[in-house]
Amino acid sequence: MSTQTTVDRALSVTTWMSEASAAIEAEADRLTQLDSAIGDGDHGVNMTRGLRAVTEALASAEELPPGKLLILAGKTLVSTVGGASGPLWGTALRRAGRAAGDAEALDGPALVLALDAALAAVQELGAAVPGDKTMVDALGPAVDGLRAGVEAGDPLERAVAVAAQAAEEGARATMPMQARKGRASYLGERSIGHQDPGATSTALMVLALGRALAPTP
Ligand code: ADP
Ligand code: MG
Repeated sequence: MSTQTTVDRALSVTTWMSEASAAIEAEADRLTQLDSAIGDGDHGVNMTRGLRAVTEALASAEELPPGKLLILAGKTLVSTVGGASGPLWGTALRRAGRAAGDAEALDGPALVLALDAALAAVQELGAAVPGDKTMVDALGPAVDGLRAGVEAGDPLERAVAVAAQAAEEGARATMPMQARKGRASYLGERSIGHQDPGATSTALMVLALGRALAPTP
């Protein structure tokens, strides 16, 4: 039998945001199409602009603990994105940063706390519950999947991969839902049959987490 050693991993916030920025930019047209169907067609542009600004802000930031980087990312999103997704993701990242405090590294348990705080912030600000056809329907399952994996002692890469798959499935599951929050809710039943753009971009954000894990310092 071979002995396996697993290297402890932690999230690099700077890498997360640049990977998220690249992923969202690559899918910007699709996000815009989804938002054209049930919103005002600006979601791809909103997220692309916001994450580019975040990537720039983080690149010129000094060496800061991950919590402080998340707060800076959140502030930048709030100030650069006009649509609902700016304040929602901005508040989410700021709250995640506050939950991380001055910790030197975002290891599995710290990441669970941070993303759980992000989800709580989104729900507090936007008042959406699961099933309302919003980003909550992707972020909620992601946090649950991550927590289950971390609590079971899985390597962080595996827990994050499970979270990403849960977010993707959550986003797909918004298709038959009727929107009850945000701009899409104005359409009533006509919002049924389209995947929610915010849940779709959220799944990309969670997928990007998996490309931003580095061995702990
Ligand atoms: P806007 O709707 O202002 O144009 P965006 O197009 O950037 O903003 O973002 C739309 C996405 O924001 C939706 O697809 C949905 O996922 C999310 N969203 C909107 N309102 C809420 C809310 N109250 N709670 C959670 N998410 C919301
Ligand atoms: Mg929009």
